[in-house]
Amino acid sequence: MAEICCSVSSAGSATCELPAPAVERLPRVVTTCPVCGEKGKPVQGQTVKALLSVTLRQVENGDYMFCGTRTCPVVYFSADGKHTFTTDQVRERVYQKEPEAGDVKICYCFQHTVGEIRHASSEARNAILNDINAGIQADQCACDLRNPQGSCCLGNVRGLIKRFEQSSQVS
Ligand SMILES: [Zn+2]
Repeated sequence: MAEICCSVSSAGSATCELPAPAVERLPRVVTTCPVCGEKGKPVQGQTVKALLSVTLRQVENGDYMFCGTRTCPVVYFSADGKHTFTTDQVRERVYQKEPEAGDVKICYCFQHTVGEIRHASSEARNAILNDINAGIQADQCACDLRNPQGSCCLGNVRGLIKRFEQSSQVS
């Protein structure tokens, strides 16, 4: 008799059943900001610790998310939805919260501001991009410790340049 139960699908063979999906074992994770309700972006614990201006005794060991909603005061919230840290509890002004403010940094590692990019020529904007890329290549960036979003600014910089180039074409 063939005992290869999975290929010979004999009815009622309990040993062949696939394990039940372990859905009930996953912890319930809140990924939407408890204040604005928008989806957050996961950040490393060291990003939260590096960027907070308040005592780190308030930081829990669990996962934290970054809220990039412009109008929302929350910068970080715990994945269990119990704790939030707002813009006034963070050491840096956050680009996503003040995307029009000229003196707010967009590149926190190499100190480029929104205003600098706004007033730059197309060539100078390219030079800023090249500067950031060169810094990344030289391993001189520390986005996880300096950028409130905890990741590379390059996408934001490209997006901002694109926005300024498009608006200058219209006018
Ligand atoms: Zn929010």
